[in-house]
Amino acid sequence: MKFALVNEKKTAATKGARGVCQFCESAVSAFCGEVYAAHWKHDKKCKCDPWRDNETEWHRAWKNKFPTAWQEVEHRDKSGEKHIADVKTDTDWAIEFQHSYLKPEERRSRNVFYKKLVWVVDGTRRKTDSKQFAKIIKEDSIKVIDSPPTIKVLFPEECRLFNEWGNSEALVLFDFSGNNENNNSLLWFLYPQMQSGNVYLSYINKSGFVELSNNDGFEKLAQDVITPMHKEILPMYEANIKHRR
Ligand SMILES: [Zn+2]
Repeated sequence: MKFALVNEKKTAATKGARGVCQFCESAVSAFCGEVYAAHWKHDKKCKCDPWRDNETEWHRAWKNKFPTAWQEVEHRDKSGEKHIADVKTDTDWAIEFQHSYLKPEERRSRNVFYKKLVWVVDGTRRKTDSKQFAKIIKEDSIKVIDSPPTIKVLFPEECRLFNEWGNSEALVLFDFSGNNENNNSLLWFLYPQMQSGNVYLSYINKSGFVELSNNDGFEKLAQDVITPMHKEILPMYEANIKHRR
């Protein structure tokens, strides 16, 4: 975890510091090694949130783009089940940063738990992913809508990332910039699963996405653009194609 409570204040880990977990209230100690980003660890083994795992630099860099109050926020569903979102915006969007492989059942359970969820997936974890993805963009996809630029993936099964994330009901953003982002870095945006099983992509500027989320513009983007695309425009496009055949 990036934060713990020190004198009841949400505090980042510094060398030798001790604190209290803001979720389970047990004692935690700061770890500031050279390999992992500075973090807090429970003194006693604790199942505080079984969904949490160790953070890479990439993961930490993403969290840092958002206000402290939005990072590591507890979210409870109606049944009282609780988990800690990497980021939770003021309009209740949970943003989860995913570096490691996630089992499909775990992915689904998080989609169900967080009603409004965006996954940001590290596309640099496996070397083959960015190659497969680049090939799809270059050779095996067609642009179907100009604004927002929307691309249909012709052979999603040829890219492992689509095999893993193609049936997600939540929004997925692929980040191929790793720790080397610049102002032009893009996030590839995967539309939630379509009834037809087809896979559609769009893209958004990385810094633009962060700015939008920080200003609560993501809610508007979801309502005005993403949902109509997913529920109306793309299904209509598919119906027309079928009709023309
Ligand atoms: Zn805890």
